[in-house]
Amino acid sequence: MYRLLSMDIFDIPPLVVAALVNDARKYGISLFEACEKKNLPVATLIHKHLGLMKKETAGQILYFFLEETGLLKKLATYKTAKEEKIAQNLAKFFNKLKTYEIEHEDAGVFTVVDWIDLSMTLGESPLSADTDWSENNAVNILTIHSAKGLEFNVVFLVNIVSARFPTIERKEQIPIPDALVKEILPLGDYHEQEERRLFYVGMTRARDALYFSGAKYYGEGKREKKLSAFIREALGEKPLFAENSENGQLPLIDWAKAKEEPDHPPLRPPITYLSYSQLETFKTCPLQYKYRHILKIPVPPRAALTFGDTIHKTLHAFYALVRAGNHPTKNDLLRLLEDHWSPVGYGDKAYEGKMKERGKALLTGFFEKGYDPNIVPRALEEPFKIKITPTLTLGGKIDRIDTLTDGTTEIIDYKTGTMPKTRNAESDLQLTVYALAGGAEKVKVSFYFLEDQIKLSATRTSQQLVQARKDIAQKAEEMGRSDFRPTPGKHCDFCEFRLICEAWS
Ligand code: SF4
Repeated sequence: MYRLLSMDIFDIPPLVVAALVNDARKYGISLFEACEKKNLPVATLIHKHLGLMKKETAGQILYFFLEETGLLKKLATYKTAKEEKIAQNLAKFFNKLKTYEIEHEDAGVFTVVDWIDLSMTLGESPLSADTDWSENNAVNILTIHSAKGLEFNVVFLVNIVSARFPTIERKEQIPIPDALVKEILPLGDYHEQEERRLFYVGMTRARDALYFSGAKYYGEGKREKKLSAFIREALGEKPLFAENSENGQLPLIDWAKAKEEPDHPPLRPPITYLSYSQLETFKTCPLQYKYRHILKIPVPPRAALTFGDTIHKTLHAFYALVRAGNHPTKNDLLRLLEDHWSPVGYGDKAYEGKMKERGKALLTGFFEKGYDPNIVPRALEEPFKIKITPTLTLGGKIDRIDTLTDGTTEIIDYKTGTMPKTRNAESDLQLTVYALAGGAEKVKVSFYFLEDQIKLSATRTSQQLVQARKDIAQKAEEMGRSDFRPTPGKHCDFCEFRLICEAWS
């Protein structure tokens, strides 16, 4: 609560926060209750979001919070590298929440908070997982677990005293009886063996020099600590002691905070990866591209996206059965729709029900008009990566790859909507990208429009593919230089960033 009150966005003077803390102590109430008494907007916001807990996911509530406090807008317009980092961290957190929502039926606040607590107890740290420590020219402090696979010139293993390394094993509060454990239980002191393995991992991170350090006292009891038995095991009875430093402890004055480096504008790394959807978003509006793909601004779940995803997953599961040698029926297909249905993003039950009926109609139509039992797909949901230039990769995923009876390869992409009149198969960039992924001139590339049960197909010549590579490389350069000026238009009506967009404020 204190951290919340100290957030810049609420603009509450520190003296007011101090007075609230004081009030809470004086009247024996919580800090939240103290805020309620003063009718602070923070308390109103919390009440509002508490009311949403029953029906919204944790991710959705967090999204409301960012939107209502104006933080979302702030994130989209960062000016410095520090602010950029904050925006990226939030985007990362949202991605994790999104993955959690996809994988778990209950993604409410209670389960998500439990999951975060558990991840933290297990030592999960996105920062340490994402940092290339060997590139970091500084004193790096990390756990042995996160140092696995890395090497450093000099390594200090600290706290190497008895009862700290190896740690004292904490027994389970309710131990599982050995007879119920299925695995073969290790002999001896398993905990100590694990700690020894960890110690060995720590030691072998050093290239040139390895130091062990330990103190006699850690301010917790009067008994002097002994060096860990692991040191004797590793170095023999007479380890080499580092010489005592003459300099001793730093005088207090030297602890003065070093001058902070001035913050600088964020650096833009060159574009090394592109997908068709990134190219298309940039073409629609460079600012939308920046919001979605560079800043990765979180967006609320949308019914259209969930629906498209469900239909794709259902067809994937259906063809997985075909590939396994089964002959699934129309009822099997509709049952798979039920299995893969997700209620996220529809808002109300009536609309969700309507969309489910639509899904059933699309898939029934597909089974009757689009499904050919004689064709067994060669691949499903196949990821691809093509090198456009030595530094630029084009990637994506193909819904289905078939080998036709005459031996031709056909790449198929499902579309849940109707076929737009303006879509020209001969010049369509998405089909060209698939033709590039197919890598051969004879590849047939198709869209399958489930609403009208129509297939739109084309092929590309090798000259067209050479030209496409050049065009994509040029586009990437243009995107790298862009100042992401917005290009408002009709498409803004469907843009998830309209609320925060600078073109509309
Ligand atoms: S609202 Fe319009 S102008 Fe703004 S980012 Fe979206 S598409 Fe671009």
